Amino acid sequence: MSLPLEYEVTLPNGKKFTQQSGLFINNEFVKSKSGKTLESINPSTGVVNGEVYAAEDADVDVAVDAARAAFKSWKKLTGVERGNYLFKFAEILAEEQELVSAIEAWDSGKTLAQNAVYDIEETVAVFKYYAGWADKIQGRVIQNNPKTLAYTVHEPYGVCGQIIPWNYPILMAAWKLAPALAAGNVVILKSSEITPLSILYLATLFKKAGFPPGTVNILSGFGATCGKALAGHHGVDKVAFTGSTATGKVIQQLASSNLKAVTLECGGKSPLIVRADADLDQAVKWAAVGIMSNQGQVCTSTSRIYIHESIYEEFLTLFSAHVKEVYTQGGMFNDEAIVGPQVSQMQHDKILSYIDIGKKEGARVVTGGEKNEEGELAKGYFIKPTIFADVTPKMRIVNEEIFGPVVACGKFSTDEEVVEYANQTEYGLGASIFTRDIAVAHSMAADVEAGMVWINSSNDSDHHVPFGGVKMSGIGRELGEYGLSTYTQAKAVFVNLANKL
Ligand code: ADP
Repeated sequence: MSLPLEYEVTLPNGKKFTQQSGLFINNEFVKSKSGKTLESINPSTGVVNGEVYAAEDADVDVAVDAARAAFKSWKKLTGVERGNYLFKFAEILAEEQELVSAIEAWDSGKTLAQNAVYDIEETVAVFKYYAGWADKIQGRVIQNNPKTLAYTVHEPYGVCGQIIPWNYPILMAAWKLAPALAAGNVVILKSSEITPLSILYLATLFKKAGFPPGTVNILSGFGATCGKALAGHHGVDKVAFTGSTATGKVIQQLASSNLKAVTLECGGKSPLIVRADADLDQAVKWAAVGIMSNQGQVCTSTSRIYIHESIYEEFLTLFSAHVKEVYTQGGMFNDEAIVGPQVSQMQHDKILSYIDIGKKEGARVVTGGEKNEEGELAKGYFIKPTIFADVTPKMRIVNEEIFGPVVACGKFSTDEEVVEYANQTEYGLGASIFTRDIAVAHSMAADVEAGMVWINSSNDSDHHVPFGGVKMSGIGRELGEYGLSTYTQAKAVFVNLANKL
């Protein structure tokens, strides 16, 4: 029997909703041509939450045709009209915030009260922010030659393929959809095969907000089939991706087939530096935020901590006590819990294998270092927040992205040495610096190779401010005006005012 296009769901908190299972193309939910499906697994129990249709090449072709047709009229709207659609969507989402947060938690393992709610609030804010930009996209007049009127127009690319990960399913969709649509593009977004459910609910809200058919298309599907087809498709003009560096490299290669514009937001191994003059209490709290939030499944996680030798043991004692006290574990619908389960069995196993590697490499386990087997948690993908100390530069846990609640701590003696440690990685996403010396803070901010620097803080993210990395952490920026600019290209127009050669 084939999977129905919608089915009723009751969430663990008693909320009911209709889950869509189809591919969202032209404002309709349709079955995949092959009939193939994929499953969403509940990370706190390992039980199947639901099934959805999985798109492949032929479905991507249909979505591209729909989007290309929609682009013809979407690009002719005024900025105010486009902005109004985005505002309307934001308003509808705000009304449905409670339900959408719960679906997001259920699908991804984010704890609802302490984590998922924020993502949906922020999604509403991102749509409102870019709604405001839609009528403020401006070219320039270039006043070199009085006999020529030369001006630029910032035009949309056309059809944007957007490929998102599972760690912030809805928020990563928002970071991509909102600027693309505001700038006059149409979109085909592929969700992660691990978290397909919440974004399909979001699709119903685009229809409710009145977006014209084909403007926003949402496909569930696997990376190697649907993602590959989208990134390589000649009917797609730009591809934006968030995920691992390994996949980012593949996407860039696929995109080269028709020289698509590419933005990539990839992995990281961000350092957090604690100088001897730091406010230790603040450093401890932010260090915990930087690695334990979202179960450590954050590309900007400050997963390497370098502590000045004079305060090394003191910091570790305070840090470990704080993590144990505050970062309590529990299921997604436990309002007190901060740290939920890892998203999947595969991630869970990968993190445990890194913990094993760290132990074998000779790092000291200060806290955690194992799966959480307490009561009900034993059924899910729960890993105890883990602090490793005494790490050395060559260890794999210092160089490879673990993407879990696992942090590697080491000591340093001079500023020069710690900047060298900070930059020893192929990644360059974020960096945190804790010091009371304002001059050192700014000079270190200049010296660390990172797209974002947090001084006396960690992992700040604000949709007004650009987000992205250098080196193998990515290309281009999301959020803010910079993020908008990656969704337009300049066209230069010359007018011969003299009307003769
Ligand atoms: P992770 O390893 O953390 O799951 P990935 O980078 O593999 O992250 O996945 C991020 C997104 O990229 C997902 O939507 C996934 O389906 C997609 N993806 C994975 N492999 C490919 C590929 N070869 N081509 C296009 N998209 C892919």
